[in-house]
Amino acid sequence: MTKDFDLVVIDGGPAGISGANTAAIFGKRVALVEKLGKVGGAGINTGTIPSKTLRETALALSGWRSRKLFGVDLSLRREATVEDFMRHKEHVVAHDRKRREEQLRTYKIETFHGAASFIDPNTVRIAPDTLLRGAKILIATGSSPVRPPEFPFEHPRVHDSDEILEIGILPKTLAVVGAGVIGAEYACTFAALGVEVHLVDGRDSLLSFLDREISENIQRAMTAAGVHFIWKEKVVRCDAPANGKNNAHAHLRRDHRSGRRARRCRTPEQYGRPESHRGGSHAG
Ligand SMILES: Cc1cc2nc3c(=O)[nH]c(=O)nc-3n(C[C@H](O)[C@H](O)[C@H](O)COP(=O)(O)OP(=O)(O)OC[C@H]3O[C@@H](n4cnc5c(N)ncnc54)[C@H](O)[C@@H]3O)c2cc1C
Repeated sequence: MTKDFDLVVIDGGPAGISGANTAAIFGKRVALVEKLGKVGGAGINTGTIPSKTLRETALALSGWRSRKLFGVDLSLRREATVEDFMRHKEHVVAHDRKRREEQLRTYKIETFHGAASFIDPNTVRIAPDTLLRGAKILIATGSSPVRPPEFPFEHPRVHDSDEILEIGILPKTLAVVGAGVIGAEYACTFAALGVEVHLVDGRDSLLSFLDREISENIQRAMTAAGVHFIWKEKVVRCDAPANGKNNAHAHLRRDHRSGRRARRCRTPEQYGRPESHRGGSHAG
């Protein structure tokens, strides 16, 4: 089967949905292709919406704001499962995805699920017998977490930023590698839940694209919230015992510009009840 459209959009994430909606509003025949079983991309399924919902839930559940007001320690019980505070995230994500799906239906955009690959400059294949031809093709296939080879991502204590949303038990300690926006955000979220968080980065400042004064203020606030910073250190190796029951260790090396030295750091990733975890890149 070959179907013809004015525009074929490859991406069911926020960019693709916006592009598809806009073209449809202008009267174009539009197809949208998403390789996963659900639309939403990182924005709805694994990034913006879940991380923000999780952060708000974490702050509310941990009594962060009340604690500040009343000086009472309302931190979560250690036995609380991650599902306890993931439930709200699931609800918000499902609601937002449904809203986007309704938009696509409203604008009569035909949605296909399957990985798109090009046959020629105007034709993509999404299944052996399904070809879509577009006068124009919009490619907005987004991004996914980088998986550096020094991390054993197959291990149940090592997670990337997508999988951290699926851990089963709240860890006692967590090493977050990378002090960019996503690392900083998850460091704050888990610290708010009473997890001992160590944030490791080869650079020497938080969110270096910000004015230094702002960056320093954020770092001070995060330090007050319990986040430990390890600057100018790179993770050169990560040991994770095969049984999944003992701590994972990140081996750090001083950035050579500030004097090269290697050290083995008993880092910070010790789970309360490890047996119910699944693998994943944050943390080491
Ligand atoms: C933890 C986290 C927090 C974030 N917080 C914020 C924030 O606060 N504010 C903000 O503005 N941004 C934030 N972002 C970034 C934001 O999520 C992305 O910028 C946004 O999702 C990009 O949208 P996109 O449509 O370009 O790509 P994506 O959302 O990555 O979607 C791409 C889609 O294309 C699909 N695809 C890929 N290849 C194919 C193929 N061959 N065929 C068919 N489909 C394919 C993928 O399955 C995916 O669904 C965050 C990201 C993360 C990970």
